[in-house]
Amino acid sequence: MKIALIGNQNSGKTTLFNLLTGSNQKIGNWPGVTVEKKSGYIKNTEHELIDLPGIYSLSPYTSEEKVSRNFLLEEKPDLVINIIDATSIERSLYLTTQLMELDTKIVVALNMCDLLEKKGLSIDENLLSKQLGVGVVKISALKKKGIDELINTINKGSLTKKTKQIYEPIVEESLEEIIKTLKTDNKRFIAVKVLEQDEDFTDKSLKTNKIEKLIKKVEDNYDSDVEQIIANQRYNFVVKVKEKCVVQKQKPASVTDKLDKVFLNKWLAIPIFVAIMALVYYLSVGVVGTYTVDLVDSGVTWFSDTVNAWLTNLGASDWAISLLCDGMIAGVGAVLTFVPQLIILFICIVLLETTGYMSRISFFFDRLFRKFGLSGKSLIPFIVGSGCAVPAIMTTRTIEDENEKNATVMLTPFIPCSAKLPIIALFANYFFTNSWIVTVSLYLLSIVIIIISAILLRKFVYKGKSNTFISELPEYKLPSFRYIARDVWEKTWSFMKRAGTVILLCSIAIWVLVSFDWTFTYGVDVEKSILAGIGNALAWIFYPMVGSYNWAVTVSAIQGLVAKEQVISSMAVIAGLAEEVTEGALIFSQTGIFGFFNPVSAYAFMVFNLFSAPCFGAIGAMHREFGSAKKTWFAVLFQTGIAWALACLINGVGSLIMLL
Ligand code: GDP
Ligand code: MG
Repeated sequence: MKIALIGNQNSGKTTLFNLLTGSNQKIGNWPGVTVEKKSGYIKNTEHELIDLPGIYSLSPYTSEEKVSRNFLLEEKPDLVINIIDATSIERSLYLTTQLMELDTKIVVALNMCDLLEKKGLSIDENLLSKQLGVGVVKISALKKKGIDELINTINKGSLTKKTKQIYEPIVEESLEEIIKTLKTDNKRFIAVKVLEQDEDFTDKSLKTNKIEKLIKKVEDNYDSDVEQIIANQRYNFVVKVKEKCVVQKQKPASVTDKLDKVFLNKWLAIPIFVAIMALVYYLSVGVVGTYTVDLVDSGVTWFSDTVNAWLTNLGASDWAISLLCDGMIAGVGAVLTFVPQLIILFICIVLLETTGYMSRISFFFDRLFRKFGLSGKSLIPFIVGSGCAVPAIMTTRTIEDENEKNATVMLTPFIPCSAKLPIIALFANYFFTNSWIVTVSLYLLSIVIIIISAILLRKFVYKGKSNTFISELPEYKLPSFRYIARDVWEKTWSFMKRAGTVILLCSIAIWVLVSFDWTFTYGVDVEKSILAGIGNALAWIFYPMVGSYNWAVTVSAIQGLVAKEQVISSMAVIAGLAEEVTEGALIFSQTGIFGFFNPVSAYAFMVFNLFSAPCFGAIGAMHREFGSAKKTWFAVLFQTGIAWALACLINGVGSLIMLL
């Protein structure tokens, strides 16, 4: 049997899906869109379960809604499990009223029943089942209650489904008229869509003029537009059902309300937020993170040395050893060193998410972000982005509106990530006495550029106003260990797989470019390498921002594509320091690489590195979220274009001022 799992966001779909399917799952994308597709077999059965995207309605406005309804209409699952948050039935049943119009059998899984008592709610599921004409089972996906009963209900297969008339007579009559002319399945569903003038169904039935008459009759009767009328009547139906089936007892002052008095307090919200984020950074990119990075780093070095010794013993050629150790192991190792940091960051973020804090702080900043076309939901990627852009770009998935999400994906890399900090620190320390002012100025600049770019992008490219509404705040919850473990594992693995493959390929490419000259002789000096040649050829691009023709600067900027921390090490290597590259402007001044810069051009170069296309890992992540090479190229060019223009402007204006 083919079973679709459908429900609102945060109704517990993922929890139930994981519980029912165990570990045998396939994850991919729905054809043509970047919406995630998960499917798996329900344990010990032949039933395939397909997790549809979290949605509130079956209208055609978002790609999630389109995916879901195309699946229901075209793939015709044998059964739909409609999962509902039992603690907010009113909101959830709206989608159910639309599902009820399909021919498909439905089982409503009333989830989160473990919370009912605490909230003083009681639900009569038999009555609800009668009202809706479908099967209803109470469950708790988290506490694993009622799952056997749910599976039994599914297995019975003898579920009946009664068509319920949920609209007022005049609408029902019009629907009957349309149904008579339809020859397809799902007549009732399609009839409603035809009446609503849904763009996908306008030519499915009667002559247009007859439909127009029906629509006009309904609209005249209620003096409103037909989509609105249908939505209202659905909502009225839901309210009536709720009144019959749900009893609300006295509610004690909830913990959530009390906590909100603190976390959403006008004066306390921001300081608490800053403190929490500071803690997150202390743990992930701060002391603990640095420690884990060093640990993995020494592991990678040990592994590289071992492989080197082993290959040397075997008598392997120089270039083979170098390809493996300097190219592949070093490149992939660079990714691996970030993994522990990322795991800590992922844990912190999923904790903030599942406890309900993240939605609150997004809500708090929502009004502000709306002013430049984004919403509170973009805040999270921006915060995470100051650690690393890769997981940050992955968190944009919580933004439902496609255009708003795309804009956020493009802007996230503008936040100075932890790998860009060493560049800033090194240059700022060497060229400026008050280096902290420089650092702060760069952060402020990035905020200004993000705001300007957001306004421009939302006006000209990813058009629209934010319509990702954060309508209802979830309860504060204690996190579940299994959920966190699984979420962190999925994100980490996805990072390792994607960033790992991209970085591996690019590392090999850069290794080839550094190790060979144009005649393909191995082991040449860096100045004669292909990379230097490319650097020379492209030096004119950097002329306006550095003020001289300089291949080393070009090359280090190109290397920055692999990983931003490469900018520093690459400059050092090129300058003739193949040895251990530690920080220290001294080394750089001795080798003369800093001679290429003056304070103005150094600042311009920092700005360029701050805003230009991020590392390959982040470009890979952008590509995954955009789901299109064209959009990815556009983003990379947009970012690099802004970086270049800004850097040139700064150098130009700065140099002029210096002359005066
Ligand atoms: P999805 O967005 O529909 O995939 O929902 P998730 O499965 O991600 O669940 C959202 C949140 O609700 C998570 O924090 C879950 O731990 C929690 N949750 C899911 N099912 C239950 C339940 O039965 N009871 C309680 N108390 N929490 C649940
Ligand atoms: Mg989910």
